[in-house]
Amino acid sequence: MISAPQTYYIHTFGCQSNKSDSERIAGDYEARGYQEASDWRQCDELVINTCAVRQSAEDRARGFLHNVVVYFNEAGKKRPKIILTGCMTHHGNDKLYEMLPAVDEILPINEVGFNSSAVRKDRKHAWIPISTGCNSFCTYCIVPYSRGREQSRPRQDILAEVDQLVANGYVEITLLGMNVNSWGLEKVGIGFRKLMMENKNFTRQDLPDNQSQYLKPESTPPFVELLREISEREQIKTIRFLTSNPWDFHDELIEEIGANKKIDRYIHLPVQSGSNSVLYRMNRGYTRERYIEVVEKLRAVDTEIVLGTDIIVGFPGETEEEFQESVALAKEINWKLGFVAMYSPRPGTASWRIYEDDVSHAEKKRRWEILDKIINKDNLAVRPHVV
Ligand code: SF4
Repeated sequence: MISAPQTYYIHTFGCQSNKSDSERIAGDYEARGYQEASDWRQCDELVINTCAVRQSAEDRARGFLHNVVVYFNEAGKKRPKIILTGCMTHHGNDKLYEMLPAVDEILPINEVGFNSSAVRKDRKHAWIPISTGCNSFCTYCIVPYSRGREQSRPRQDILAEVDQLVANGYVEITLLGMNVNSWGLEKVGIGFRKLMMENKNFTRQDLPDNQSQYLKPESTPPFVELLREISEREQIKTIRFLTSNPWDFHDELIEEIGANKKIDRYIHLPVQSGSNSVLYRMNRGYTRERYIEVVEKLRAVDTEIVLGTDIIVGFPGETEEEFQESVALAKEINWKLGFVAMYSPRPGTASWRIYEDDVSHAEKKRRWEILDKIINKDNLAVRPHVV
């Protein structure tokens, strides 16, 4: 008798990188003969791909896991094998098994390979990871710990995937990475976590500056060359990329965006704060003036360009004056879309270690409402991020 194939189901939280990773995890399952189940209640293996960007994101994953356990207990059915992956893996295996005893296995997110073939539901648009991890150590961010140091995917592998997508009729792609601008750049590679853990008196001054993580390209940045090579594929009509950062948004990239109309006119450029003193505490490696300069240059090469951003309110020590600098910047830049987030300390990060979370929840909420209304005025009904 032929037995039915084993089935898998992937429940994904968080950003586009997680969605892209889930497509590749699905590819691994299918290569091993598994089939996708239509519902988590019917699968043999359940993968929960988690996000840890804020405490609320971790709470949602825990809530989902709780519902899974309750459902199988009440139904008197055997639970599927539960595999946890994604950014919550930064807690480390011991802590995770203790926090979430229903989890059977932990898959480190950096083991999801670039080159596993992706199972895509969309037939027109494809996510393509071009790098993983991050070297930048913004003080609030867990990504350098959960995904590890930045690694660029080899150019020939990216182009081979693009060609395969072209052969399958895809016309739109989005290149993904935590900092796509630095794809292919040589990294100086500073690690400070050990330093932070060993030094009780660690301060903001001990952090390596974000901009020092990369050697500045003296000629065309590799990312611009990659955009040009992909654009040569006639069938590809639209190219997007996420995420860019102001500290290495090179002038040649701006010129390429102006000249190459296959590149989408929407550019997502996180600012995080409009206040230089907050940006310094965040270790963002640029100033408000540098951000405005990049925006002005982008608008000078094409007036059709629209911008989106990520911005945090209630970062430790954020005064009313510093918040008002974010408000003033929002009015000046006129972003089309903004992911406004209330700060929440992520254990293990530098800001959790160095600063006191001293802005009250009520005050964060007040600031969030003000900024959200200003930035997302055109799309309040489809608010991108409700915290
Ligand atoms: S650039 Fe900063 S915010 Fe973005 S992933 Fe890296 S550390 Fe996090």
